[in-house]
Amino acid sequence: MSAERNHPDRPDQLDRLARSGWARAGDAAAALPAHAGRWLAARTGWTPAGTPAAPGAVAPVPPSALPASVRAELGTIVGVEHVLVEADDRLGRSGGLSYVDLLRRRGAGDLLVPDAVVRPADPGEVGRVLAACAERGVGVVPFGGGTSVVGGVAALRGRFDSVVVLDLDRLDRLVSVDPVSRLAVLQAGVTAPRAEELLGRHGFTLGHFPQSYERATLGGFAATRSSGQASAGYGRFEDMVAGVRLATPRGDWRLGVAPASAAGPDLKHLVIGSEGAFGVITELTLRVRPKPVLTRYEGFVLDGWAAGVDAVRALTHDGVRGAVTRLSDPQETEVGFELKGGWKTRAVRGYLAARGVREPCLLIVGWEARTAAQLRAKRKATRASLRGAVALGRPVGEAWRHGRFAGPRQRDALMDQGVCVETLETAAHWSKLSELRAAVARALTAELTTAGRRPVVACHVSHTYETGASLYFTVLVPRDPEDPVGQWTRAKEAASAAIRGLGTITHHHAVGVDHAPHLAAEIGQLGVDVLRAVKRELDPEGVLNPGKLLPEDPTAPR
Ligand SMILES: Cc1cc2nc3c(=O)[nH]c(=O)nc-3n(C[C@H](O)[C@H](O)[C@H](O)COP(=O)(O)OP(=O)(O)OC[C@H]3O[C@@H](n4cnc5c(N)ncnc54)[C@H](O)[C@@H]3O)c2cc1C
Repeated sequence: MSAERNHPDRPDQLDRLARSGWARAGDAAAALPAHAGRWLAARTGWTPAGTPAAPGAVAPVPPSALPASVRAELGTIVGVEHVLVEADDRLGRSGGLSYVDLLRRRGAGDLLVPDAVVRPADPGEVGRVLAACAERGVGVVPFGGGTSVVGGVAALRGRFDSVVVLDLDRLDRLVSVDPVSRLAVLQAGVTAPRAEELLGRHGFTLGHFPQSYERATLGGFAATRSSGQASAGYGRFEDMVAGVRLATPRGDWRLGVAPASAAGPDLKHLVIGSEGAFGVITELTLRVRPKPVLTRYEGFVLDGWAAGVDAVRALTHDGVRGAVTRLSDPQETEVGFELKGGWKTRAVRGYLAARGVREPCLLIVGWEARTAAQLRAKRKATRASLRGAVALGRPVGEAWRHGRFAGPRQRDALMDQGVCVETLETAAHWSKLSELRAAVARALTAELTTAGRRPVVACHVSHTYETGASLYFTVLVPRDPEDPVGQWTRAKEAASAAIRGLGTITHHHAVGVDHAPHLAAEIGQLGVDVLRAVKRELDPEGVLNPGKLLPEDPTAPR
């Protein structure tokens, strides 16, 4: 057994400015290159005149409604210095990092600010905080990296007069490593980069690299069934979870004693994806893998969406995907070329035109291996399956790898310039995938097109399965300065309606507040009732994450 401290406190979370975009205080500001501005203007009708509220234009923070007696009681559990009620501390944890969250933090619309931030140091303190809040009728919002894009950390009060954010940043330890079984126990507040650093010292990697990697935590990944960019090689986060420890108002619950079990339904899966509504994940036993020694990324181009999807389906069925296998549709390929590419775009376009490609769909493949022979064999198998694709080679693949976490910073720059920029995701079986893509694109385009505003709706596949794949949409359109929040929420509703019956309401962003009204359509009213029964058992007072995962309960006591 070893216990290693994680990182020092995260001052970024205390910085109100840092939460009006992705970049932290001190980061170099992201900027839009001039060629990108010209493309946006021509393609969408954008003009810089639509510049919105700048970062920092924050709404006033209401006083804390947490009764002094509860504050004192929580202080006896975690230490008074870890019950924060200052405006900046509360503002730093008011909501997640969706486009609408960022708009609200820039002054457009109501901001839900918690009454206090509580920072327990270990699983025992988490349990005692939950018991105290259940007894005193205070809502509790578990908070990892705060990167939710579906309202998962919104400071909703439910039927309570006050709500606290339970920040897990002090649960930051690597508890133990079992190299023989390839398992590691880590506390839930460990951030993804820190997990890689801690595991790297033992020669292991988790292999979980979502775009929110820099900020998100292991507990957040488990609570939302997250999926990373290398899911083709390492699986979704839930595939890595061998055991969980959950603090609930009813006590501590540990699950996962063996690699497989026939002891009834797998109750771990009631915890994974429970979004803080059933309890607080305090520790995770995670499957780890030896760190790869060699990696190689390459770009390919397929002509048209149908050819692209056929290619990634074949890679999946042939078992020759790279650890990263990511296909952009023609619109996303264009966005990538135009927002980033500059002069190189013209050169690549010329090269592709000379090879007869009319609708380029960029495919990135990243292989990982322990030996050169393994890498060669993997690459050869992929390339054999990809006959018909135009190879763009390593520079394009490595450029993607280099910029793989740059998207959120680019979003900051686009937001600063008056662009509505947001993403949504879903998944479907192969036979319905193209119909789903068309339906969502149609709905978004119809809702967002006005005189003078033409949206770009771009899509990619980055998680494939034997029976289907995910679709991830990115939307760019000039912001409506009169009603920026309504502009996006109406478009999102139209997209959600289009998804019904074809795919899932969420492949990896989770339910949160935004998708809760659509849950029954997917899992049935009986499914919702089963989840409510579990919640009643684990959280009888209903203090845990009010309004998330489950739609509002009409029968709940007021
Ligand atoms: C720019 C950007 C890119 C993103 N890219 C991806 C991506 O590639 N793949 C992906 O899967 N997601 C992505 N996301 C979504 C988000 O990062 C994930 O949902 C992530 O899993 C959340 O982790 P977190 O630590 O930030 O959790 P938080 O946002 O803090 O919380 C998320 C939910 O889990 C609950 N929760 C958090 N910690 C715990 C805990 N210990 N116990 C119980 N409940 C808890 C919260 O109450 C909330 O409901 C992205 C988000 C952004 C802003």
